[in-house]
Amino acid sequence: MSLRKPFTHCQSCAEKLSDDLRIDARFCDKRCRKNAYEKKNRLVLNQPSRSDFAAFKKNIIENAPTAATQYALAWPVPGSLLVHWTPLLTVRTKRFDGGLVVGRYFMLRPRFELPRVAHTGLHAIAFYDDSGKEIETPVAMLCGVWVPAAFRTRSKKPPAPKPSPVTPAPSMGLGIVMKLR
Ligand SMILES: [Zn+2]
Repeated sequence: MSLRKPFTHCQSCAEKLSDDLRIDARFCDKRCRKNAYEKKNRLVLNQPSRSDFAAFKKNIIENAPTAATQYALAWPVPGSLLVHWTPLLTVRTKRFDGGLVVGRYFMLRPRFELPRVAHTGLHAIAFYDDSGKEIETPVAMLCGVWVPAAFRTRSKKPPAPKPSPVTPAPSMGLGIVMKLR
């Protein structure tokens, strides 16, 4: 007797699903489930891909000071003398892979972490050692580095949340609208 599974292959990465999984499994694991969910919601948020950053990564790895293990990027705010540094050490920030991190910059070594910034384009770059002490930026990068892709919400609004049949919530709706702006 054979049990018929509704899905034989992962609905995210298309790999064959392991027999050990629940009979109604649609994904290999949590990661594939998350990927599928994010893909579905891509209309709301730009989702740069790792391949967008091939040249960026190469540039930084080749030119970074040898003692540097972290880096941060600064975007010059147009029409002002201000720059917006990201990530900040003191604030919990969302990273490229979707995780939340506080207390360290983007990782450079031993594992390279792609940046998550809000604007595509030229950014200033700063390097830091393990203790968070800044290391002088190499001459090759004094004029900045090009960030090829950014996480930025599009103007298209996500569909309105379905009102719960139990809780009529005009105030909740208002809260969500304010949060979106
Ligand atoms: Zn999968």
